Amino acid sequence: MSISLLECGVVGEREYDLSSYEGSVARWCSGCGDHGILTAVQRLLAGESLDPEQTVFVSGIGCSSRFPHYLSTYGFHGLHGRALPVATGIKMTRPDLHTFVVMGDGDCCSIGAGHWMHATRYNVDMVALLLDNNIYGLTKKQTSPTTPQGFESNTQPRGSYLPALNPVSATLGITNASFVAQSADWAPAHLFATLKAAYAHPGFAFVRILQRCPVWTVDVFRDAVQQPQLTELLIHPDGIREPDVEALYKNHVEHDPSDLDAARSLAEDTSAVRLGLFYRDASRPRYDAIRRVPPRTAEARMALLDEELDRHAV
Ligand code: SF4
Repeated sequence: MSISLLECGVVGEREYDLSSYEGSVARWCSGCGDHGILTAVQRLLAGESLDPEQTVFVSGIGCSSRFPHYLSTYGFHGLHGRALPVATGIKMTRPDLHTFVVMGDGDCCSIGAGHWMHATRYNVDMVALLLDNNIYGLTKKQTSPTTPQGFESNTQPRGSYLPALNPVSATLGITNASFVAQSADWAPAHLFATLKAAYAHPGFAFVRILQRCPVWTVDVFRDAVQQPQLTELLIHPDGIREPDVEALYKNHVEHDPSDLDAARSLAEDTSAVRLGLFYRDASRPRYDAIRRVPPRTAEARMALLDEELDRHAV
């Protein structure tokens, strides 16, 4: 495997490259967009020189939620829709850990929707990735909240009845949202730059990644993939800038990511696929900064755990 300098980080005596973060062999379908997203995440980890034992990935249930198995970091493959509260607990008690969350559209926008709203408002420092393939893939083509209206699925064979939920617009509508961006698995340079910006953000960085599922939603993103002119790229000196991406996606929209009203207007207009940074405000209050849990030694944490378990022992 050839590794560029960008993809190789060095901390003290330790060197990292993409292989430093490899876990089990990914078992997603051939052509699944999750493969490219995993590579982009591994590039981020290597580029930022994140120690695997100081990094944790939390997921719920779904195809994309297998993510932690494919990394050599710590991982928590939890319950459906519950990745965000688990990650919040981890970050509150272990603020030294680099905390990432991986969710699918059913996981985040349906059963986990309440957690999504409050995690956004609590603004705890983490990167939350929504891998949105517009369908429940693992359970074989059930309508999800982001399934396009009219799309025929196994649960709504006459076509999805309702307009799709808009995760970017919804997040921007939540009080105290501090970072909202959108990228796509088929735009790897843009995705990598977006992940870097999200990781650098002090607070809850929400990134919706449009993700191809060549098994169940084959055509949903086909036009966007094959015709770059249909994509609008949000550009601004304070946004996500990648010259190669801007050369490919020539349809540019100047957007100041500090302008929340403009971000909401852009997000609500679904006439084009938009990639870029919709909103960022690093000054928003963070629950983890306000309610900082005092650091405890490993022995103190073990004593607390024993005490808690004793309360439930028969
Ligand atoms: Fe990926 Fe779709 Fe296969 Fe799931 S069913 S692994 S989302 S291609």
